[in-house]
Order: sequence, then structure tokens, then C-alpha cells
Amino acid sequence: MSDLTRMTAAGLAEKIHSREVSAVEVAQAHLDRIAAVDGDVHAFLHVATDAALASAAMVDERIAAGAAPASPLAGVPLALKDVFTTSDMPTTAGSKILDGWRPPYDATVTARLRAAGVTILGKTNMDEFAMGSSTEYSAFGPTHNPWDTTRVPGGSGGGSAAALAAFEAPLAIGTDTGGSIRQPAAFTGTVGAKPTYGGVSRYGLIACASSLDQAGPCARTVLDAAMLHEVIAGYDPMDSTSIDQPVPAVVEAARHGAGGDLSGLRVGVVRELSGEGYQPGVRASYEDALRQLEKLGAELVEVSCPHFEYGLAAYYLILPSEVSSNLARFDAMRYGLRVDGGASAEEVMAATREAGFGPEVKRRVILGTYALSSGYWDAYYGQAQKVRTLISRDFAAAFEQADVLVSPTTPTTAFPIGDKVDDPLAMYLNDLATIPTNLAGTAAMSVPSGLADGLPVGLQVMAPALGEAVMYRVAAAYEAARNSEDGVVIDRVPSLEVSS
Ligand code: GLN
Repeated sequence: MSDLTRMTAAGLAEKIHSREVSAVEVAQAHLDRIAAVDGDVHAFLHVATDAALASAAMVDERIAAGAAPASPLAGVPLALKDVFTTSDMPTTAGSKILDGWRPPYDATVTARLRAAGVTILGKTNMDEFAMGSSTEYSAFGPTHNPWDTTRVPGGSGGGSAAALAAFEAPLAIGTDTGGSIRQPAAFTGTVGAKPTYGGVSRYGLIACASSLDQAGPCARTVLDAAMLHEVIAGYDPMDSTSIDQPVPAVVEAARHGAGGDLSGLRVGVVRELSGEGYQPGVRASYEDALRQLEKLGAELVEVSCPHFEYGLAAYYLILPSEVSSNLARFDAMRYGLRVDGGASAEEVMAATREAGFGPEVKRRVILGTYALSSGYWDAYYGQAQKVRTLISRDFAAAFEQADVLVSPTTPTTAFPIGDKVDDPLAMYLNDLATIPTNLAGTAAMSVPSGLADGLPVGLQVMAPALGEAVMYRVAAAYEAARNSEDGVVIDRVPSLEVSS
């Protein structure tokens, strides 16, 4: 494997901008790595070889001409979740119903990456329409966890996380509706951040549940995630829920945090997410992390968020309700697949949706339609929205006592492919600790916290809305402390070394 694929995004950018290596060489090294390992990993649904090399060549030309790079990440390769529209690549959202669809426009995230000179290597695999926790609900076959290819990489953004862990890309983009950035990050020993709702534009992001969806950065280090965060975040008039305020200074915060001093900061240990019922190794890793944070000078305070336990139930009413509405647009008339099911438009729609949607999508459309139906709205959707308010209040009260909150990102490490695919409830339980943040619209990220039984574990750091700076600071401090103790976790990806 070329050393270039082992480097951080920050390190690559420095070498490219000082002309020590070219952006084209960097892109080529990653394309070679994809060619070598993606048969085993299946992180990518589409690899854009020519477009990636052409984009990198433009960065090189600009630097050779003496101009400043378009952004601090110009020339650095990235893997884009296949839920963002790309005018020059197919976009499937992991669904057969969009197989072969070529969007006529770029998502704002896509456009910002291009404007920043980031090299988009291709589109990554995901659970269909971002519903799932393992990437097994992709219509195009599962992604394999690079740590152990018999296991899932998490989901729905398993492709993006696996691409990072397999050294196919140093940066990736994910979306997080209930944990789809953070849970795969935890399962693959990588970093993933869900920004404050409204922090990153949803324009051109194929909707799952619009009141919960949020795009965010994925990387192998906290600083790299912060650099990517600053490239994609910020106000966009094309998204009515976009926040018209300055982007928190997360790069500065990550650099500050790496100094390793958290004195004066209060870290809230959420009693309801503090490890009861979690895999023993995950719990042990979490307890280590708490001790580590204390050593860095943070003051640990126990906080209680009594309504978090209803989060999962509320989420699995709100999300399907929004999904049933959002996915009505896949009507066989405007996009992708059309199955000739009879003479009437209704028959064509029914036959297309029957053939084009997978079982998990159908389950949620049916659940959501039921929850919104007349006579049930109050009992289900209305109640769930009330729980949502209570969870926001829990967060507000907790953030009066603490600057950030922490928990394990997931109750377990990566599970074997096939284990939970027929047991929706077991699959949903993956998101126990991540869902409250989506319901409240606040920010959270997952940072590697070592291994349990040979597999990666994640520490979740949660912050108030627009509190990303303190979140990155704490994550960077923790990362630096861990690295100085036992080396970067991600430097040991055992199972793929043979195939490179
Ligand atoms: N796993 C969760 C679900 O299935 C979260 C998905 C997501 O964040 N997109 O809904």
C-alpha cells in the first residue's frame, strides 16, 4: 500500500499545497487502493476515476500557477455517500428505485466540495434511503467492515465509514438521521460528526426524515473531520432550515483540544446512557474514557436525562411518518424505475414501488402511513412529538450542568453480517444512544475509544446546538491522549493487509 493512503487529510493537504506530491498522485494512490481492496469491502457503489483525476489535475494546475489553493483541503480525496445528488455521477440512495438515475443538479454539499477543490472519488454504499444500521439494507449488497469482513460496518453510512477504515479515502461525507454517521464511525474506529440541525445544507440530500436529517463529516482524525466540517457547513438559502449564523470555529477548537488540557470543562456523564446493558467491553472502554477525560482536567458530573429512554419509541414513529410522506415522490412518473403493472397510473405506481423498494423501506412506509392516519395521529405521531419536546428539555437541563455530555456511541461492537437483518427491533436498538441528539437537533460526534474484543468502540461527545467548538475540543483532547498512550487505533486494521 502506498504511504499516501495512510496519511491524514491535513498531512496530504500540506504536501499537495507545498508541491511535494501532486493531487493527481494522491488521487491515483487512493484509486489504486480502491481497486485493490474494494472487492472485499464494497464501500463504493460508483468510482469516478476520470472525474477524480481531472479534478485533482485542476488543483495541481492552480498551485503550479502560483495561486492559493481553493481551500485548506484542496486536492484531498473524499468518498461521498450516495444520497447526495451529483450531476456527473449516478445517485441511488442505495435503492433499486433510483438505479441508473442521473440527477440534473449538484447538492449544496457536493457543490461546496467541488468549490473547495476536494477530489470526489465516488459514491458510497448505504442502507436504502438511509434506513438501517448495518448497510445490509442496500439494494446493491452489503458493505464489509475492514476490521473483520464477516461483520457489518454499521449503517446507514457504512460505505463511507468503511472507505476510511480501509484507507480508500481519508475523508468521507455521511448523513445522520438517528446515528448513521456516528454508529458506523464507532464500528470502524473512525471519527464522525453530526452537526447541529441546520448546520449543513440539506439541499440535494435525498430526504429520509426531513426534521432529523443532517449531513456531516467523517474522517480518521478529529482535526480532519473539523477541516471538512468547515468546508461543508454554513448558511444556504436553498434549505429553509439552514441556520443563518457563522459556522463554529471547529478547526481552531480541534487544534486547541489537541493540546490536551480540558481543565475548567464540565463533562456530563448521562446516567441513562452510562453503560447498563452494554457489551462489557464497550462499558470498560467507556469507563477508561471517563478516567482519561478526568486526567485531562475535565470535571465529571453525573447528569440525568429521564426521557431518553422514550427516544427510540418516539423516533420510530416520527421517522416512519416523515418517510411515508417523503418517499411518496417515488411514483414511477418522475424518477428512476418504472414497472409496467397495468393500464392505470395507480397500477404502474404500485408495481414500481413493490419492485423498487426493499423490505425495510416498505415496513417504514406502512408504519408511517398508519401512524399518520386519521384517528391515530394524536395517539402516535402527536405523542411522539411531545416526547421530542421532553428530550430537548432534558438536554437543556443537562447542558446547564455540563459543557458537553458523553456516552458510549453504541451498545455493542460491530456484529456479524446476517445477525440482525431479520430482526428489526434488534437492529433499531443500535441507535439507543445516538437518537436523542437527532430528536433535539443538537450536535454530537463519535471518536474512537479503543478496542473491545478486537473490534473498535466509539465514545460519543454531545454538545448543545451550535456548540460544535467545545465538542471538537473535547474529542481532540481525548484523541490526543489516547494516541500518546497506545498509538492511533486506526493504524491497526488487521484483516485487509493481505489483500493490498
Ligand atoms: N439506524 C437508524 C435508522 O435506521 C438511523 C438512520 C440514519 O441515521 N439515517 O433509522
